[in-house]
Amino acid sequence: PATKLPKVGTTIFTVMSQLAMEHGAVNLGQGFPDFDVPARLVDALTRAMREGKNQYAPMTGLPVLRQAIADKTERCYGHRPHVDAEITVVSGASEAIFDAIAAVVRAGDEVIVLDPCYDCYEPAIDLAGGVAVHVALDPATFAPDWAAIRAAVTPKTRLLMINSPHNPSGAMFTSDDIAQLTALLRDTGIYLLSDEVYEHIVFDGARHESVLRYPELRERAFVVSSFGKTYHCTGWKVGYCIAPAALSAELRKVHQYNTFCTFTPAQAAFAEMIEAEPEHYETLGAFYEEKRDRFREQLLTTKLKPLPVPGGYFQLVDYSAVSDLDDVEFCRWLTVEKGVTAIPLSPFYAQPPKGQRLARLCFAKNEATLDAAIARLQKL
Ligand code: PMP
Ligand code: GLN
Repeated sequence: PATKLPKVGTTIFTVMSQLAMEHGAVNLGQGFPDFDVPARLVDALTRAMREGKNQYAPMTGLPVLRQAIADKTERCYGHRPHVDAEITVVSGASEAIFDAIAAVVRAGDEVIVLDPCYDCYEPAIDLAGGVAVHVALDPATFAPDWAAIRAAVTPKTRLLMINSPHNPSGAMFTSDDIAQLTALLRDTGIYLLSDEVYEHIVFDGARHESVLRYPELRERAFVVSSFGKTYHCTGWKVGYCIAPAALSAELRKVHQYNTFCTFTPAQAAFAEMIEAEPEHYETLGAFYEEKRDRFREQLLTTKLKPLPVPGGYFQLVDYSAVSDLDDVEFCRWLTVEKGVTAIPLSPFYAQPPKGQRLARLCFAKNEATLDAAIARLQKL
C-alpha cells in the first residue's frame, strides 16, 4: 500500500528490546528503570481505583493534578502557569509532542530539529505535512551550533524543537544557549517545542535551564514533561504540556480527538505524590548521579570509553577500541554474541556522522543489573 511514512520502520527501542529478550541479554537499551515505583504512588493509584476514580478525567486533566503541576512548576522554575488555561495532562510526552506538532505545523512548514534527536519527532512532522530541517549538534559535545541553526531559519520555519537534558547524549543547554536561543527567536513568529522529560535528572550541581524560567521564550513555547521519567513508571504513560493559553487551546483541539483524556487513577496519584513528597523530584538528580558515577567507574574496567553525562539516564560509550562495525551492527552483535543490549545512535539522525562509533547504555537500573552487564562487557 502507499505509505504515508516511507522512511519509518519499527522503532529501534522495540527492535532492540525484542532482540534482548530473544537472546537473554541484559537490556540496557530501551530507556526504562528496572526498580520500583515509589510506594506512596502505587498506594495512591490503587486507592484511586478503589475509590471509583475510574471514568474519564476532564479533557485537560484532573484539576488537582493541574494544581499540583502549577505548584511544582512555581517551586522549580519560579513561574506559575495558569491552572486551567496553560496546563494539559496527556498520555505521555509522546502525545504532547504529537499534539503540539499536529496543532501548529501546516503543510509545507519547516520544523528545525537538532540531530541526534528522539525518534518520534520527524514522523509527527511528516504526518502534519511539515518538513523536518535537520541541524547537527556538535559531534563531540552535542552542544547546539547556533550559527548553523540561524542559517537553517527561513520564512517557512514554523517550529524549533529542543531537548535538554538530551536523549541520547545527556548534554544540557547552558545559560549561554538560552541567550542565543532567545536572540534567535526574537522578532520571529517561530514556535518552540521544549522536550524537558529529563528535567529532574541533572548532575554535578548544574541547573536545568527550563524554558519556563524565561518569559520571552515561554510565551511561544510548548514545554513537555513526563511523569514516566520522574517517577520510574514509563509504562503508565502520563505527561503534560505547559504552553500559553492560545497555544494550549490549539494543542487541546488535537488532544481532545486523539486520546481525549489520560488514565484517571494515575492522575489522582501523581497529584498526591507531587504535593506530599516534593523531595522525590528534588533528590532524583542525586539518586541518578550515584548510579552514573558507579557505572562510569565500572566502564573504565572495560574497553568501552564513556563520554561525559551531564544529565538524563543514558551513558554514551565509544566502542572503537572493540569493533569497527557500524553502530547498528555493533549493537546487534553486542546483544546476540555478548549478551548486553545497547541502542545505536544512527536512528537518531537523518544522516549519521560517518565513522561514528557510539552506543547508548541506560543506567536507570538496579546495581545487580548493571553489575551483570559490566561482567559481560569486561569480556569484550
Ligand atoms: N522525549 C524524549 C527525549 C524521551 O526520551 C522520551 C521517552 N524515552 C519521550 C519524549 C517520551 O516520553 P513518554 O514515555 O512520556 O511518552
Ligand atoms: N524514550 C525511551 C528511550 O529513549 C524509549 C521509549 C520508547 O520505547 N518508545 O529509550
